[in-house]
Amino acid sequence: MIRGRQLVGSDYPVLVKLNTTDGFDRPGCLTLEDAVATAKMLENHGVDAIEVSGGIAEAGNLMFLKNIASQDQEAYFAGAARAVKAAVSVPVILVGGMRSLSVMEDIVTSDTADMVALCRPFIQEPDLITRFRNGQPRAVCRSCNSCFNARGIQCPHKE
Ligand code: SF4
Repeated sequence: MIRGRQLVGSDYPVLVKLNTTDGFDRPGCLTLEDAVATAKMLENHGVDAIEVSGGIAEAGNLMFLKNIASQDQEAYFAGAARAVKAAVSVPVILVGGMRSLSVMEDIVTSDTADMVALCRPFIQEPDLITRFRNGQPRAVCRSCNSCFNARGIQCPHKE
């Protein structure tokens, strides 16, 4: 049993954010195969859900790709999420680059992941879900990464 489960007991959800690549393609670096094996181990140890991500600081902007302008640039860890979801039965959450509501809906309805998670879009539009409900089709976040700065996380483009 993982230590976190021991600490919180059996009736509290334990979620893990799992890297599926470290951003480098050379011997000794993290592979998708490694990540899928890790996901299976986590499930066997009682984890309730797995969020699929990727990248480390040394790999640059892999975690936070810049200038996402079209739908085919969104959801850049979707392939990894599909591989993890095929290997485990706990819910899989996809994070990374989603901006369009239709892309998020497709992720869930196509069985790529059970849920989606967003980061930068909520920095600029904390009320994004309400905006989606009111008909806005896409987050306005331009993926410029100016929100990550030493003075704290804030969007200079926020209205
Ligand atoms: S600074 Fe604002 S627009 Fe740029 S990535 Fe961050 S939240 Fe998005």
